[in-house]
Amino acid sequence: MKCRGVILCLVYCFLVFTAGCKKADVKPAVGLQVVTTLFPLYDFARTIAGDKAQVTMLLPPGVEPHTFEPKPEDMIRISRAGLFIYTNKYMEPWAEKIISGIDNRKLRVVNAGERATYHTALHEDEHGHSGEEGHGRSGMDPHIWLDFTNAAQMVDTILDGFIAADPGNGGTYRQNALALKSHLAALDERYRSSLSTCITRKLLHGGHYTFGYLARRYNLEYHALSGISSDSEPSAERMASLVRGIRSSGTKFLFAEELLSPRLTETLAQEAGVGVVMLHGAHNLSRDDLARQVTFFDLMERNLEQLQKGLQCREK
Ligand SMILES: [Zn+2]
Repeated sequence: MKCRGVILCLVYCFLVFTAGCKKADVKPAVGLQVVTTLFPLYDFARTIAGDKAQVTMLLPPGVEPHTFEPKPEDMIRISRAGLFIYTNKYMEPWAEKIISGIDNRKLRVVNAGERATYHTALHEDEHGHSGEEGHGRSGMDPHIWLDFTNAAQMVDTILDGFIAADPGNGGTYRQNALALKSHLAALDERYRSSLSTCITRKLLHGGHYTFGYLARRYNLEYHALSGISSDSEPSAERMASLVRGIRSSGTKFLFAEELLSPRLTETLAQEAGVGVVMLHGAHNLSRDDLARQVTFFDLMERNLEQLQKGLQCREK
């Protein structure tokens, strides 16, 4: 890992050097340049920016976020930015190390999750025992944006970064952040009200441990069927045990996730005689969703519809 870091730094230095030679061809960027890692940060930052700053996302569309590591050209993008925003050290364990190697005194780095409230990720292992999932050594759940009060804290922290990097446009940034937070508060209220009338409160998720914060906030019982979250197919024994678990839970739907092929979830659901609905963790967007300019709020509205269907919630 250390060696990989050194190699990345050497390639980075070479690319910066060669890029410097071609400087005359490059048009200077206008306004504050902001680089973000994951989609929620990108969407929050571009809303705060309005037309006063240029915001880009490091993660290419459709790329798996948990195993992503920046390439040398990404490091050049960061080194030329005025603001770099990442989620937290559990989601992007590479961020702090990479940043310390970048020679740009004007670059401001924002750990968007620094004021968030964290919880550990619990999952059931192959034998049905509860334990911590391996998001780094801490077992901390990095998906903080799925608790909308945490998301509002992230907006505040990102706003502070914008104001520090570009105080002249502070008024616009403040106004945009305020509108964003009131949108989040309204979303939170709709989730609370819509999910208070469900027949089941068991959220059985055929994927990695993503929705712990959301489940905790709205008093749902969350089970991530992590046995099917890896690339390898689960054993026949594990599948049979999962099918038994789904049948005995009394739930009518299994939730699939956007980062995995739904094939295994569909097979499981078929075996257990239940339906499948989709939940989106909002880590990243597909190329299609990006082209359609889908927002964080669009994804959360879709999720709420799917939750209402999957948990059989009645309209109030
Ligand atoms: Zn995740």
